[in-house]
Amino acid sequence: MSPSASDAVVVAGAGIGGLAAALCLARAGKRVALFEKAPKIEEVGAGLQIAPNAGRILQGLGLSAALDANSLLPESIIIRRATDGAELSRMPLAGARERFGAPFRLFHRADLQNLLLDAARASEKIAIRTDARVGDFEEEDGKLFLRVHGSAGPEDIEAAGLIGADGVRSSVRAFLFRDERDAPFYSGCTAWRALLPAETVPTALRAKEVNLWLGRGAHVVHYPLRGGEIVNAVVIVEDGEVEPASNEPMRDGPSLLEAADFERCAPQLRDLIASHDSWRRWPLWIRPALRSWTRGAVTLLGDAAHPMVPFLAQGAAQAIEDAEALGQAFAGGASAAAAFARYEGARLSRATAVQTASRRQGRFAHAGFPLAQARDAVMSLIGGRGMLERNAWLYR
Ligand SMILES: Cc1cc2nc3c(=O)[nH]c(=O)nc-3n(C[C@H](O)[C@H](O)[C@H](O)COP(=O)(O)OP(=O)(O)OC[C@H]3O[C@@H](n4cnc5c(N)ncnc54)[C@H](O)[C@@H]3O)c2cc1C
Repeated sequence: MSPSASDAVVVAGAGIGGLAAALCLARAGKRVALFEKAPKIEEVGAGLQIAPNAGRILQGLGLSAALDANSLLPESIIIRRATDGAELSRMPLAGARERFGAPFRLFHRADLQNLLLDAARASEKIAIRTDARVGDFEEEDGKLFLRVHGSAGPEDIEAAGLIGADGVRSSVRAFLFRDERDAPFYSGCTAWRALLPAETVPTALRAKEVNLWLGRGAHVVHYPLRGGEIVNAVVIVEDGEVEPASNEPMRDGPSLLEAADFERCAPQLRDLIASHDSWRRWPLWIRPALRSWTRGAVTLLGDAAHPMVPFLAQGAAQAIEDAEALGQAFAGGASAAAAFARYEGARLSRATAVQTASRRQGRFAHAGFPLAQARDAVMSLIGGRGMLERNAWLYR
């Protein structure tokens, strides 16, 4: 298939959202041209929790065997107090497959992206082009024209529709709304990430569990990956309104303990953070919530549409939900403009609610005295099953 074919829908961006969208559109019978600006499709970053709401959709694409082969299933999510390690809650995940239609899965990001990429490459409806940055576009007489930039120079192509799956710094979004107030902004938090060889992690923290440690103004998440060979760890630190002017892409464990105010914390947590000397900086940028993602035959998906702080681990999951809704919106041979309006109607309020809830979760996780005491008391009162129930609206 020629990617410049005018009946193809163009997806800009081959992240997890763009790949999932291409697969869902292809399943709906659409031809897709997937353009990625990078010369090679590869995921940077570390671990990814894929909650049942997204896992169910990927299973529906016929990917169950690949998902199971590439993921680890945690037994529970354990919430602990950072200062003394006290267990505040243990959310049991064993029954998730029966309750929500898919288990909780833990992936190395690259493994999930590769399995989606393999499925996209195997589809005759999907043409993938790398080194192809989608630039400006215009709609004229019901036709959509867009400019694609590659190392060989710019090229104008006609498309049936354009989906901006190009991440938080989406240029499709910038061209769509041309509004300075819509610019990305720093969320006030930085994530410091590391992949730790399991043997360097305290034995008690290597179990098949997602661990969440709550501190004042900071929290830590860690879980095992790839059969338990490595542990994905993220320390999220509040730094204030403005991104710290820092050109340190890495931090060592002791200075990270200090930045997170974890100098007096549970010994296991201190060992986990202090033992590693190259924590990688990942400032968390977001954008304002939008009232609409769509104009005519152009729409947005995933982080381009609704970037969120990762405190509910739902950014990629919501992108996958978008992808499914897009595929469904083309049912019955709808035009791109009609399908995108239908897609937005199906998705906008839920994705915005998850965006808002993710921010609220940050305040809950980072509370100090006396709110933290109240939070901890409520958690032990409602128990692990009750905590899981609180999140059931996300996972259903
Ligand atoms: C610390 C952290 C932890 C997280 N943990 C989780 C988790 O556990 N579970 C979860 O569900 N989510 C999690 N998330 C969120 C998740 O990573 C994102 O929501 C998700 O990766 C967004 O995918 P996307 O495809 O929308 O965008 P991206 O992954 O940003 O992909 C965008 C793609 O578009 C390409 N691109 C950009 N501009 C153009 C252009 N003009 N033309 C062509 N291509 C272009 C880029 O090169 C890139 O490949 C986490 C995020 C962070 C920061």
